[in-house]
Amino acid sequence: MKFGIISDIHSNLEALQAVLDSARKQYVDEYICLGDIVGYGANPNECIDIIRNLAVKFVAGNHDFGVCGLANIAHFNDAAIKAIEWTKTVIVPEHIAFLKSVPLLLNHNNKLFVHATPSYPDSWAYILSMNDAIREFGFFDNWLCFVGHSHQPVTFTINRDHKIGSSIENSFVCTEKKRYIINAGSVGQPRDGNPESSYIIFDTALNKITFFRIPYDIKMCQEKIIKAGLPPFLAQRLEIGR
Ligand code: ZN
Repeated sequence: MKFGIISDIHSNLEALQAVLDSARKQYVDEYICLGDIVGYGANPNECIDIIRNLAVKFVAGNHDFGVCGLANIAHFNDAAIKAIEWTKTVIVPEHIAFLKSVPLLLNHNNKLFVHATPSYPDSWAYILSMNDAIREFGFFDNWLCFVGHSHQPVTFTINRDHKIGSSIENSFVCTEKKRYIINAGSVGQPRDGNPESSYIIFDTALNKITFFRIPYDIKMCQEKIIKAGLPPFLAQRLEIGR
């Protein structure tokens, strides 16, 4: 069984289509979306349509809950708030109802899936450092936990002696001797300096994780953001992956 794990699409239709083209060629059996389908980009309805038809499992992100009124957006940055307000003007009511119905945390196939953190998923904290990771490993028992939110692909591990590690390796086999927190990176707005879309395939037969980076039509996506009247910064950042 191959799981395609995608996160932080952020209304970027071009990136989502490129990632799904790649995943199909890899014979992904089942998709899991780690949240933030919307926010920042110009195609929220189209992205939700695709995800609803495709992903059998979802968890919600802070932008998803921001758009449907379930998260406080006061602490978001200006561009993010503008994008949420714009999204509210174009999103169809059926999609608002869908976003409201999405859970924050999902236990599926003995794996844990959450947008931000296992500890307090609705506080929208980040797992960026070893210290963040060691705290979070204390809040769940699963062997593997998949997260998004930071838009930076990375893997944190803890072994039986509570030794923490981190890695940006593209491909590895998970060992029973460790537990893992794996950040899928972002489909629609990568922030690790590489503008190509990020997603993961987890092959359950081999216990193998593979990170993929996929180029997409950034120009087209930027033009739509500008045309929609969204902050130009949201277009510019895509080409530098920040
Ligand atoms: Zn995000």
